[in-house]
Amino acid sequence: MSTGLLFRDDAYLKSASARVVAISERGIELDCTIFYPQGGGQVGDSGALLRANGERIAIVDTRKGEALDSVVHIPAPGATLPQVGEALTLEIDWERRYALMRLHTALHVMSCVVVAPVTGGNISPDKGRLDFDIEMSLLDGERIERETNALIARAVDTETVWITDAELDARPELIKTMSVQPPRGAGRVRLLRIPGIDLQPCGGTHVGNIAEIGGIRVLRIRSEGKRNKRIEIALTGKAN
Ligand SMILES: [Zn+2]
Repeated sequence: MSTGLLFRDDAYLKSASARVVAISERGIELDCTIFYPQGGGQVGDSGALLRANGERIAIVDTRKGEALDSVVHIPAPGATLPQVGEALTLEIDWERRYALMRLHTALHVMSCVVVAPVTGGNISPDKGRLDFDIEMSLLDGERIERETNALIARAVDTETVWITDAELDARPELIKTMSVQPPRGAGRVRLLRIPGIDLQPCGGTHVGNIAEIGGIRVLRIRSEGKRNKRIEIALTGKAN
């Protein structure tokens, strides 16, 4: 059964109310959620589900379920499980998620500084990376850092745009990431637009203004194979 994905419309929700619709070996499914399930290179959220009696069910990870848009909340080993139909209060680990949002959005910006097909990527709370199909000699860490930070300093608001599958098919240049095809079948595809900088399909969570990224530094650049040159970045300082 599909889950209402509240983070899609508002990535800044730190808590919400939901009802349990299923419990399985994999975890807990709710009628709606603020927990982002691992996908598109972004790790799943952690946090807690609070019962009416004050009991706290720790959630250690979030994954996609089998049905389209279904989400499975994975409880800590040994946690008490709620009842189907029970109303819960959801709380995500906001500090961790906000770091993920800042890093994720930073990778969108960096993908416009390094002009090459993206072959992979990953975002964890302390660092993010993108892999590019490019010659090693074309990658200069200082330049990437300087130009990415210069774009971040433009402090523009990000926008979510929806287009139809057919519109996306007509604009294949929008798809930079060869390893992650945007999800199809729902009839529409979600894009992240950073005006004047980037436009690409993405279902992840982003900051509302790129100034919130603060700044980035390049941790390292290394070859992971002929078509994979990996650039790893971290955030510098606090969100603006
Ligand atoms: Zn994104």
